[in-house]
Amino acid sequence: MTDIKIPLRDMRFAMRELLDWDQHYASLGYDEASPDLVDAILEEGAKFCENVLAPLNAVGDQQGCTWKDGEVTTPEGFKEAYQQFVEAGWPSLAHDPEHGGQGLPPSLGTIMSEMVGTTNWSWGMYPGLSHGAMNTLQAHGTDEQKATYLTKLVEGSWTGTMCLTEPHCGTDLGILRTKAEPNADGSYAITGTKIFISAGEHDMAENIVHIVLARLPDAPAGTKGISLFIVPKFLPNEDGSAGERNGVVCGSLEHKMGIHGNATAVLNFDGAKGFLIGPPNKGLNCMFTFMNTARLGTALQGLAHAEAGFQKSLAYARDRLQMRSLSGPKNPEGAADPIIVHPDVRRMLLTQKAFAEGGRMLIMLCAQQVDRTHKGSDEEKKEAEDLLAFLTPIAKAFLTEAGFESANLGLQCFGGHGYIAEWGMEQNVRDARISTIYEGTTGIQALDLLGRKVLMSQGELLRKFTKQVHKFCQAEVDTEALAPFVSKLQELNKEWGDVTMHVGAKAMENPEEVGAASVDYLMYSGYVALGFLWARAAKVANDKLAAGEGDADFYRAKLATARFYFDRILPRTATHAAAMKSGAANLMELDAEHFAF
Ligand SMILES: Cc1cc2nc3c(=O)[nH]c(=O)nc-3n(C[C@H](O)[C@H](O)[C@H](O)COP(=O)(O)OP(=O)(O)OC[C@H]3O[C@@H](n4cnc5c(N)ncnc54)[C@H](O)[C@@H]3O)c2cc1C
Repeated sequence: MTDIKIPLRDMRFAMRELLDWDQHYASLGYDEASPDLVDAILEEGAKFCENVLAPLNAVGDQQGCTWKDGEVTTPEGFKEAYQQFVEAGWPSLAHDPEHGGQGLPPSLGTIMSEMVGTTNWSWGMYPGLSHGAMNTLQAHGTDEQKATYLTKLVEGSWTGTMCLTEPHCGTDLGILRTKAEPNADGSYAITGTKIFISAGEHDMAENIVHIVLARLPDAPAGTKGISLFIVPKFLPNEDGSAGERNGVVCGSLEHKMGIHGNATAVLNFDGAKGFLIGPPNKGLNCMFTFMNTARLGTALQGLAHAEAGFQKSLAYARDRLQMRSLSGPKNPEGAADPIIVHPDVRRMLLTQKAFAEGGRMLIMLCAQQVDRTHKGSDEEKKEAEDLLAFLTPIAKAFLTEAGFESANLGLQCFGGHGYIAEWGMEQNVRDARISTIYEGTTGIQALDLLGRKVLMSQGELLRKFTKQVHKFCQAEVDTEALAPFVSKLQELNKEWGDVTMHVGAKAMENPEEVGAASVDYLMYSGYVALGFLWARAAKVANDKLAAGEGDADFYRAKLATARFYFDRILPRTATHAAAMKSGAANLMELDAEHFAF
C-alpha cells in the first residue's frame, strides 16, 4: 500500500509563490511567523502526520469506536497519538497567548489541519472540533469561561464538541427542543437529546466541553429563541481540574458508512449543568463562529480525500500493467504497459490532481482571509469578512463535492482492486461521503450562497470577487502564454453576473426560482473560482519558467494541469448555466403524489 506523503512542494507553491504568505504575515505583524518557523512547522507537522497518523487510518476504519455503559473506546493507537499531538503543542499553535496559545496565524493552523486530515480524517475530527469550540469561546465567552475552559482546550487536555442536531431537527434548527432552565446559582439545567455528535464521547482527553444549543423557558419560537451553553462532561473543580460527572451521557454510537474512527454520539442531557455563552436568545449568532470554523474545516475534508486518493491511484497507475498503449507499446519489455499510458486513466488522475491542487489554493485563500479578520486594519477586516462570507459556502460545498468525485475516481483507477478493502480506496470513498452532508448539506450551502450572500447583498459580494477576476484578466490580457486562460475567464466572469441577474429577476416573481437554481449556481461559482486560481497558478508557473529559476518540471506540470482544468473541467459551467436558466417550472410541475408514477 502506498504511504501518504504530505505534498509539501505544492503547499509551499500555494502559500508562498501564489499567495505570498511571507509578505502577508509580515504586513499583518505576525513577526513570529518567519519563513524558517513556517518551514519547521511544515516539516515537523508532516513527520507527525506521515509517521503517526497515516498508519492509524486503516486501523480506525477496521476497529471503529466501541461503546460500553456510556463510555467510548477509540481505536488502538488513537489515544497515544493524541497524547503526542498535545505534547508537541499542536492544539495551541494558532490560539491566543493569553490563554496559553502560541499566537501564530490561524492559517498555519489550517496548514496543520490539512496535513492531519489528509493522513487520517477521522482522527483529525477530535482536535478539529476543539478548534471550533475554542474560537467560539474566544469570541463570545466571559473572562471566567475563557480561564476555565479555553485554556484547557488550548492545552489540548480537554476537547470540544458542537451539539446542534436533534432527532427531529437537522437543517431546521428553529425547531430544536433541548431545554435550558435557570438554576438558583446562575447556571442552567440542560435537558434533551442531541444526536450525530462528532467526537461526542471518547477516551482521548480528560474532559469534553460540549457547546450546546438549547432554549430558555420564555424563549420566542424559531431561531430567535435559541441560546448557547457550555456543558462539560466533568464539572471543573476550583483548581480548574475535571471534577464531578455532569448529567450528560452518551446513550449510544451511530453505526455508519465511513469515518469509523470518529465517535458519532447520541448524547442524553438530563438536567446537566450548563453555562450560558453570549446573550440569551442569541445562541445561533454565537454558534455561527463555530459553524464557520467547521465549514472551512469540512471544505478541507474535500481536499484531504482528493489528495489521498490521488496519491494512491497515481502510484498504482504507474505500476499496474494492463493492455498496450493505443499508440504502440511504451513498456515493450513487460507483459503490458502501465495503465497510466491510457488516456482515460490520465483523465481520472488529472481530475483528481486538478481538484486537489485547486482545492488547496482555494482553502489557502480562505485561510489568508481568516488571518486578515484577526489582525488587519478595519478596512482590511471588512474586505476579508466579505470575501470569506462569499467563499465559505463555495469552499464547503464545491470542494466536498469535488473531493467525493475525486475519491470515486481514485477508486476507479484501481478497477476491482479499488472496490476491495486492501488498498484503502473504498475507505477513502466511504469517509469522503459525509462531507457533503454535515455542516450544512450542499443544498443548504447553495441557498446560503445564492439567497443570503449574493441576492440579499444585491450582488455586492459577488461583484467584489468578480472585480478581482477582472483585474487579473486586465493585467494579463497581453500575456501571450496566458491568453487561453484569460479569454475564457473573462467570458465566464461576465456570464456569472448575467446568470445572477437572470435568476434574481425571476426570483422577484417566484421565490422557488432561488431554490431551483441554487446548487447549479454554487457549482458554477465553484468551477469559476477555481478557474481563477488555476489561471493565477498558470501565471506564476509561466513567470518562473520564463525567469529560468529551476524546478522547471514542477512548473510545466502546473501549466499542463491548468490547461487540463480549463479544457476539460471548466466547460461543466455550461451545463450548470443551462440548468439554472431552465427555471423552476420543470422541478415544481409534478404533484408530490405523482412522483411515484
Ligand atoms: C457522521 C455525522 C457527523 C455529524 N456531526 C455533527 C456534529 O458534530 N454536531 C451536530 O450538531 N450535527 C452533526 N451531524 C448532523 C448533520 O449536520 C446533519 O445530518 C445535517 O445538518 C443534515 O440534517 P439532517 O440529517 O437532519 O437532514 P434533514 O435536515 O432532514 O435534510 C434532509 C434532506 O433535505 C434537504 N433539505 C432540508 N431542508 C432543505 C431546504 N430548505 N432546501 C433544500 N433542501 C433542504 C437536505 O439538504 C437533505 O438533503 C452529523 C451527522 C453525521 C451523519
